[in-house]
Amino acid sequence: YTAKRDRTRVELWDPARPSPHTVDLGVQTELRDAVGQGQLVLHYQPLVDAHTGAIVSFEALVRWAHPTRGLLYPGAFLPAAERSDIIHALTDRVLADATAQAAAWHRAGWPVPVAVNLAAPVLTSDHFVDAITGHLHRTGLPPTSLIVEITESAVMTRPEESAQRLKTLQDCGVRIAMDDFGTGYTSLALLSQLPLDELKLDRTFIMRVHDRREQVIVDAVARMAGGLGLTLVAEGVEDEPTARTLAAMGIDLLQGFHFSRPRPAADFTPPPSPLHRPPNFATTAMSA
Ligand code: C2E
Ligand code: MG
Ligand code: MG
Ligand code: MG
Repeated sequence: YTAKRDRTRVELWDPARPSPHTVDLGVQTELRDAVGQGQLVLHYQPLVDAHTGAIVSFEALVRWAHPTRGLLYPGAFLPAAERSDIIHALTDRVLADATAQAAAWHRAGWPVPVAVNLAAPVLTSDHFVDAITGHLHRTGLPPTSLIVEITESAVMTRPEESAQRLKTLQDCGVRIAMDDFGTGYTSLALLSQLPLDELKLDRTFIMRVHDRREQVIVDAVARMAGGLGLTLVAEGVEDEPTARTLAAMGIDLLQGFHFSRPRPAADFTPPPSPLHRPPNFATTAMSA
């Protein structure tokens, strides 16, 4: 009890006085060190062609390899990071690792693009465009092999400014994806004003896609994306029937546990080069 009377301890840790700020302070101190000590790791989840199943790109997803608590998922630490300046150092770390990984895949003969998520405080900061182009120069990764994922709510903080900065990036060749599409409030108004290349339809729609009413919505989004020249992605595809339904509805790319969970980069190997592919036996058999 005496220890709890110590001013610092009472303010930071007294469980009898839980407050979001005291909790944040603990996590933030630890997280700041974690970023500096390289405890953040990226897992990669493939996006596959809805018809061929071939890997078309990867999304980089951050995890915290915590020394005592094991592998922590973004839900456990991103909110605290976003409420402080740590989100900038974290994003810089993620951008550095993701561009380096994509550049390594390129050198290995696999020019697969990698997507990185950008949080609201990053989108509204002055230097994220310079930071991104800096990482592209440093790694030699072609801009067209980087995708940035933004959300409607992140853009909504300062729409004009965000749109302008994203346009600068897009003019360099970087691709822009709208993440969690359909969960925000101003989807349609924003769609015509933002520089976008990709729409990622949120998992909540995908989960219910066997429902007739949900199909009407997904179908309308698919036609809209087609008309606007946007690549349409379905997130959270967990089984084969869902994958088939979505492919039949004209969704371009699928992402979800059915194809692969997010995994370390080393778990993915480049497809065999076309030069080294065995002869096409189907053609041989038909002409025989
Ligand atoms: P997100 O960008 O929408 O990423 C997709 C999330 O859905 C990932 O969760 C992924 O593991 C999960 N997911 C993928 N396929 C399936 C599926 O078939 N079923 C289910 N139930 N879930 C699936 P994760 O890795 O926990 O990330 C959660 C969110 O954290 C991300 O959502 C993104 O908003 C954020 N995030 C992750 N990495 C970063 C980062 O480096 N920077 C920032 N700012 N945010 C990040
Ligand atoms: Mg994402
Ligand atoms: Mg998403
Ligand atoms: Mg999502």
